[in-house]
Amino acid sequence: MSAATGAGTSLILDGITQRYGTALAVDTVTLDIKGGELVALLGPSGCGKTTLLRAVAGFLKPTEGRVIVGGQAVDHLPPNRRTVGIVFQNYALFPHMSVAENVAYGLAARGVGRAEQKVRVAEMLALVRLEHLADRFPRAMSGGQQQRVALARALAVRPSILLLDEPFAALDKNLRLDMQIEIKRIQRNAGTTTLIVTHDQEEALSMADRVAVLNAGRLEQFAPPTDVYDRPETLFVNTFVGTANILHGRLVTEPGLGRAVALEDGGLLPTVTALPDGTRVAACLRPEHVAFEKDGAGLDGVVEIGLPLGATLVHEIRLEGGARLKTAEARAAGAGPRPPGTHVRLRPIAPERVSVFPDP
Ligand code: ATP
Repeated sequence: MSAATGAGTSLILDGITQRYGTALAVDTVTLDIKGGELVALLGPSGCGKTTLLRAVAGFLKPTEGRVIVGGQAVDHLPPNRRTVGIVFQNYALFPHMSVAENVAYGLAARGVGRAEQKVRVAEMLALVRLEHLADRFPRAMSGGQQQRVALARALAVRPSILLLDEPFAALDKNLRLDMQIEIKRIQRNAGTTTLIVTHDQEEALSMADRVAVLNAGRLEQFAPPTDVYDRPETLFVNTFVGTANILHGRLVTEPGLGRAVALEDGGLLPTVTALPDGTRVAACLRPEHVAFEKDGAGLDGVVEIGLPLGATLVHEIRLEGGARLKTAEARAAGAGPRPPGTHVRLRPIAPERVSVFPDP
């Protein structure tokens, strides 16, 4: 028997708007999520992620808009009639129940018989690799183990939609990566359509099939992680996801050079854009697209600071014109940063690497 009968259920959030008094917490958000997809709702605190999750769970009836699960509007259904499983930030396990009892809880509440309960609990504990801890109590388990129990409990009722609300917030960094991989594996195997709320961009980019980036209640971009990172559609997405060099200036067309940003700090940064000359813009450039040049022509500057960030070397360079650029490169074994004051040359930056957005 498959671990989840809800595999492949689509989820549509259709024009969801939520007002609290006069405050607009969510503004006409539409997301069309395919069956089996893992979608991350990513954004800073207060952008409306939890509100959207609560609307899907049925804890909240949005001011406007509809929630459609598997082609059926579910707006009239209370939470317990929606086929939705939830894992909360703090796991919310029942402390007086064993692991097996916790996992069986939702099954008993839905009138599943004892024999069938046993089968399903065993199936779920195998899925999260906790068969050996069925009789333990939550207090005698690690955070990661408790989280897997919470996941098993949520999946036991075979939800068509799984909702994860900041599920890794309570875990330390190492365990977090293990659990991210683990949850991704379980979600793949179960084929359950999943919405995960997070304010952690790395988590969203590494786990999700598609990322919905939210800012102040509005959907800024809904796309696969690589697109969100490589082709951000707004200045907000560019700065919130990944690290960006942001330089301000005005668009010009230079003879022999083409379109460029005439930087406020001096210098020209070639770019590709449909915006007209004269537009004040923020030019964004990923640090890993700024490389050092050994012999050829380039932009001259001086190292202000260098940081060895584990596998990456980061430098901040002050160019001759005064503009500052961060660089990022893979760190070779044993290599350290260049000392402050070192004169360096940066390779001319490819125009298509420079995204420009009208300066607000
Ligand atoms: P966080 O990451 O901090 O949990 P979030 O992105 O999940 O934030 P929401 O909890 O959805 O954000 O809140 C969105 C906005 O709505 C915030 O400005 C919040 O203050 C407001 N808000 C949420 N719930 C209520 C409520 N019950 N009454 C009034 N305002 C609310």
